[in-house]
Amino acid sequence: MFDSMIIVLKPGTPPREEKAVIAEIRRLGYRPHVMRGVERVVIGAIGDERKNPSLDPLRAWAQVESVTPVQKRHKLVSREAHPKPSTVRVGDVEIGGSEIVVMAGPCSVEGETQLMVTAEAVAKAGARVLRGGAFKPRTSPYEFQGLGEKGLKLLSKARKRTGLKIITELLSEDHVDLVAEHADILQIGARNAQNFQLIIAAAKTGKAILLKRGLSMTINEWLLAGEYVLANGNRNVLFCERGIRTFETYTRNTLDLGAIPILKNESHLPVVIDPSQGGGRADLVSAFCKGAVAMGADSLLIEVHPNPKEAWSDGAQQLDLGGFAQLMQDLRPLASAVGRSIASGT
Ligand code: PEP
Ligand code: MN
Repeated sequence: MFDSMIIVLKPGTPPREEKAVIAEIRRLGYRPHVMRGVERVVIGAIGDERKNPSLDPLRAWAQVESVTPVQKRHKLVSREAHPKPSTVRVGDVEIGGSEIVVMAGPCSVEGETQLMVTAEAVAKAGARVLRGGAFKPRTSPYEFQGLGEKGLKLLSKARKRTGLKIITELLSEDHVDLVAEHADILQIGARNAQNFQLIIAAAKTGKAILLKRGLSMTINEWLLAGEYVLANGNRNVLFCERGIRTFETYTRNTLDLGAIPILKNESHLPVVIDPSQGGGRADLVSAFCKGAVAMGADSLLIEVHPNPKEAWSDGAQQLDLGGFAQLMQDLRPLASAVGRSIASGT
């Protein structure tokens, strides 16, 4: 993938050992360029890693201090590959443009009335995409696992009724075709954020992929997970920060809003914030959304339920319908202060 690597030798490497490294670089099919400093020797190795063996094993050589790719490993998602921001289009909804796209709906699809009531309310308040889990990645096997295909059919029905686009989680490679038949955006959850076979299968559908950040995932790992989607021919990736695991136990997760400007710098792709999983508490959702909008998020993924007290999953973090409508009103002036807008609703 890389066209060059930088190999730094340890200070005081004898000329004989330097020659051995250079010979090895040539043997592996790369052209060595030697730069001799006062203390260190630096060797640029030019070649294509897709065609030649990797230079990585040089790290095991005693006289080698470091082996570093010149290009970023997350090549296709990076700004180097695409200096201008790119948008992801889902029908008439464009994510990453001037509109901040709000995706909202219940954590889990529980039944027809619950979903339709929520869908109509969030559409009216200005959401463009309906969320709802049909396959749920629950921590315990004894918790509600989702309605499966029945839930997906209800989501399709809600799209027909409201015009909202649908986002729902894809949990297993076995369900790729089924979920893709009903969803406009495939959500890869935090627990599957490095399940590369699942990510590749999702990418191959050509649908937009919302890639949650894993519970303990570094930004680099997250970018590389996104790279899997682009490397498999699908450029429609949304990076979704949903809180990471830290020493802090006050909240369910620690929402890393700092990831927004970092991702916007590193990558051309849109950034989504999920304030619901982010804190695990409904009373934090509004502040997290405001912070996200101020920091440049392109989209928000918010859990909304007609009666959070009776929700089958994540009740503590879901907004009720009135709370969501109020939040949308509160966000509009903030969005316009940063040169953006939020749809006015149906
Ligand atoms: C969800 O969106 O309901 C969910 C399970 O999210 P995450 O994968 O971020 O935990
Ligand atoms: Mn949830």
